[in-house]
Amino acid sequence: MIFNLMIPQRKTRKIKIGDIFVGGDAPIAVQTMCATRTQDIDATVKQIEMLKNAGAVLIRLAVDSKADVEALKQIRPQTDANIVIDLHENYRLIEALAPYVQKVRYNPGHLYHHQPEISPYDKVKYIVNVAKDNDLALRIGVNFGSLDPKDRAGKDPLQVALDSAYEHCDYMEKLDFTRYVVSLKSSDPQAVVNINTEFAKHRPLVPLHLGVTEAGMLPDAEIKSRMAFEKLLANGIGDTLRVSITIADSEKDKEVSIGYQIVTDVESGKFSNFSRDYSEGINVISCPSCSRVENGKFIQLAQRVREAVGEFEGKKLTIAVMGCRVNGPGETDHADFGIWCAPTFVNLKKGTNLLGQFGYDVVVERLLEEIRKG
Ligand code: SF4
Repeated sequence: MIFNLMIPQRKTRKIKIGDIFVGGDAPIAVQTMCATRTQDIDATVKQIEMLKNAGAVLIRLAVDSKADVEALKQIRPQTDANIVIDLHENYRLIEALAPYVQKVRYNPGHLYHHQPEISPYDKVKYIVNVAKDNDLALRIGVNFGSLDPKDRAGKDPLQVALDSAYEHCDYMEKLDFTRYVVSLKSSDPQAVVNINTEFAKHRPLVPLHLGVTEAGMLPDAEIKSRMAFEKLLANGIGDTLRVSITIADSEKDKEVSIGYQIVTDVESGKFSNFSRDYSEGINVISCPSCSRVENGKFIQLAQRVREAVGEFEGKKLTIAVMGCRVNGPGETDHADFGIWCAPTFVNLKKGTNLLGQFGYDVVVERLLEEIRKG
């Protein structure tokens, strides 16, 4: 745990999550997420322990199905970590998993998938009631790559994301529930600074979870995270954070050690002051992978893409490489070229157009051909 010495006093409310507090005068909580398949119980328990030993105080798992809930029931007795569940489209799973965890994250942009006849407010009411009954905290996790399509059409994603967060905070207040945090994530570090600064101005009491999503591989993932976190933390914004890195499972603890290093540096007044403009050169955006990754070859694929596009050094080019369909379609829309994984093939896009579906062994060459065409 890190105590704030140089970081200005945060004004957010302090909430309890399992055996820790987040917000207010609580230490900034460094957290992360497992990249293993949740149903691979041994691998998931092993990774939870590795992350916990590295200092992660909250560890997130994806639970998307009843089979994942069954796996969670077996994982729970094997660890005393504070477990956070990442809910995807099937929000009703919260009832089955709630007794086994300390916090649940839902994404407002995914609530429209299931039971479209039920209003988002009624869905949130259901989630909140389960949270109240089971002593859970919640996170409203807004992500630029997965905003509700009906909200984002033709609008500034920053404003759409903010409006979504405000709307869900209003739901929480109406439901008399204060034990929640908000995250507003983008793959663009400056957008993360702007949107969190704006949110903190309007909702100063709500604890914020900071993250640059799809930050890619090292060293860029650390640089992008530092570019966002240093500015925000130095202004007293941010109560918990996660560094996202596209990295092998065996090295996932680096997300935690780098997270702590950033907080330690800021609190001792040490700043890297990176100001790289990723929109001006080659920018490979890639997700950190999680239980939902469609094929275990994803990490290698992302690494191969980054090496291969080195031949275009000096060109202005953004390439998004995503592990699954959750943020795959949305995040690749904003890139010059996008790749997102399916179980046996890879989708290749130019802007918003799908160029085709290709095998894992040939897609990098196809990408290079398309880039060379200009
Ligand atoms: S894009 Fe898919 S695999 Fe990658 S982190 Fe997001 S949910 Fe997980």
